Amino acid sequence: MSQSLYLHVPFCDHICAYCDFERCRSHPLLMEKWCERIIEEIAEHHEILKTCYIGGGTPSALPLDLLEKLLQALSPLCQNAKEFTVEANIENLTPEKCRVLSSYHVNRISLGIQTLQDELLRIIERHHRKEDVEKALQMIHEAGIHNISVDLIYGLPSQTLNMWQKDLEWAASHPLISHISIYSLTIEENSKFGRQGIEPCSEELDADMYESAIQILKSHGYEHYEISNFAKNGRRSLHNIQYWKYHDFIGLGCGAYGLENHVYYHIPFQLNDYIKGTLKRIEEIKSKEDEMFECVMMGLRLREGINRHDFLMRFDIDLADQYKKAIQENIQKGYLELTEDSLFCTPKGFELLHEVLLVFMP
Ligand code: SF4
Repeated sequence: MSQSLYLHVPFCDHICAYCDFERCRSHPLLMEKWCERIIEEIAEHHEILKTCYIGGGTPSALPLDLLEKLLQALSPLCQNAKEFTVEANIENLTPEKCRVLSSYHVNRISLGIQTLQDELLRIIERHHRKEDVEKALQMIHEAGIHNISVDLIYGLPSQTLNMWQKDLEWAASHPLISHISIYSLTIEENSKFGRQGIEPCSEELDADMYESAIQILKSHGYEHYEISNFAKNGRRSLHNIQYWKYHDFIGLGCGAYGLENHVYYHIPFQLNDYIKGTLKRIEEIKSKEDEMFECVMMGLRLREGINRHDFLMRFDIDLADQYKKAIQENIQKGYLELTEDSLFCTPKGFELLHEVLLVFMP
């Protein structure tokens, strides 16, 4: 039985210029109907969850009463969860919403900051400003939620290395932040940036920005535990670790993905059909070969790599036997290390993970 659940809230108050996710603009009636439908779905579940993650879209875009109804419905599943995360945007987070989140066992907030430079926030069409970030952090903390993660993006149009380093320094030294996720901007064809023909930043700048993130965050006591994620005081994301270890998780809501009993599924983002209850999920049954590769692909994203004992228990074959040639080749290049317990990337391999994985492909 799955011990983790991802629930997708597809609404956003504004659409950011770089975004091509499964989301739509907030609309009061649609939100209400969506909420009724997702509550019906939640009622079909009786798992006792270890981790729950409400993402989006923008969960904090839900009005207070709908947010509370949603959390109430999830409460029987989540009351003993070790980690219950909700994504929030600064522009629509309020002290009341923070208090409601806290009262329904939410103990972690993932806050979309993206950048602390007001001029860049304008370019990417985020509606908060740097001064609002501080207020939001205080608000969350005062509501009793002390596990706060923030997202930062690099490679934004006109962003310099210096601007990026300032953002990192600020976030890394902030006492209320204990987890930082960094993302390199990709220009998606169907985003506003894509339609405008905005070019991505150069590969050199992208690499320099990634490098300096590692240096700065480490110098502030952050552990680089996953390729894009850094944690302080042991506050790794327990929910996301379930993905990286390729464990089952339930996906709920249109736009969500899930993995249960060897079936990987996607619930298409068709809001009207979802609300009517006629939407069918798209399923892909994973073969043993597929699952072993997924395990490698996801597991090598973690600094600690893949536990050989877990792999053996799961697939009844030693990882080192299954991928003998690929492992040897990567060890020779200095990209991988194999010990009795695990297989993991060297710092060089971590940076070139794409290349490392090519030789593992089925
Ligand atoms: S980036 Fe996030 S907040 Fe912005 S439109 Fe996309 S899903 Fe919504």
